[in-house]
Amino acid sequence: TNGLYIVPTPIGNLEDMTYRAVRILQEADIIAAEDTRQTMKLCNHFEIDTKLVSYHEHNKQVSGERLLEDLLSGKQVALVSDAGMPGISDPGSDLIRLAIAADIPVVVLPGANAALTALVASGLPTERFLYYGFLPRKKKERREALETLCYEQGTLIFYEAPHRLKEMLGGLLEILGDRQLTLARELTKRYEEYIRGSVTEALDWAEEDVRGEFVVIVEGTTEERPSEIQQEADPLDQIERYIA
Ligand code: SAM
Repeated sequence: TNGLYIVPTPIGNLEDMTYRAVRILQEADIIAAEDTRQTMKLCNHFEIDTKLVSYHEHNKQVSGERLLEDLLSGKQVALVSDAGMPGISDPGSDLIRLAIAADIPVVVLPGANAALTALVASGLPTERFLYYGFLPRKKKERREALETLCYEQGTLIFYEAPHRLKEMLGGLLEILGDRQLTLARELTKRYEEYIRGSVTEALDWAEEDVRGEFVVIVEGTTEERPSEIQQEADPLDQIERYIA
C-alpha cells in the first residue's frame, strides 16, 4: 500500500534491525536516505535492492517535493537516516508534515533510538523526561538554552559529539549545578559503557581522550520555580490574601 514509512535503523548493532524494517525496505519503491552510501551498506547486508534517493538537511526542500509527487502517484516511500529513528535529531519531520498535509498515510516503525536506550539504562526517573538533542555549540547560546532548563523537573536527555563533551559538561556544571548524570557511550556496540555519577565526576572522566558516541542523561531539579512569577500571574490569589 502507498504511504510514507519511517524506518529506524541500528545505532551500532546490525542485529537491532527488525524483521519488519527489512521487509518494508525491500518492498518499498524508493528508499529516501540521509546518506545513500551509508544506507547502501545496510542494504547490501540485508539483501535489499530498492532504489535509493538522498534526503538530507540541505536538499530536503527539493527532494521533499519530489518524494511527495512519488507518494501522490501511489508509490511507497521508506525514509531512513544514518542511524536510529528518523526525525529525532535527524531529517524526517519536514517530509512527515508534507505527507500529513497531503493526506498520505504515515507509518512509523518502532526501533533503535539512542535517547530512550540511554534514558532507561541511566536509572534516573523515566516518568517524566525532556529530550533536548544537541545543545547549541556557541557558549553564550548554550548557556541560554541551559537556563531555560534550570527548573525542569523531568530527566534531561542530550546528544553530544565526543570532541565537545568536556565543554558541554562544563556548561552543565555552571548552569544546572553538580547534578547526577549518566554518560551512555557507544550504545549497542562493542565498547558500550556507562559512566554514572555527578557532573564533576564525569568531567574528571572526560579529562582523558574522549572517543565514541554519547548520550548525556541528567537528573531534573527538585527545586520549585521562583515564586514571584506565580504571584504576578495570579491576581485573584493576591486579592484573596488581601481580603483575609
Ligand atoms: N536519530 C538518532 C536516534 O534515533 O538516536 C540520532 C541521530 S543524531 C545525528 C546522532 C547522535 O545520537 C550522536 O551524536 C550521539 O549523541 C547519539 N547516538 C547515536 N548512536 C549512539 C550510540 N550508539 N551510542 C551513544 N550515542 C549515540
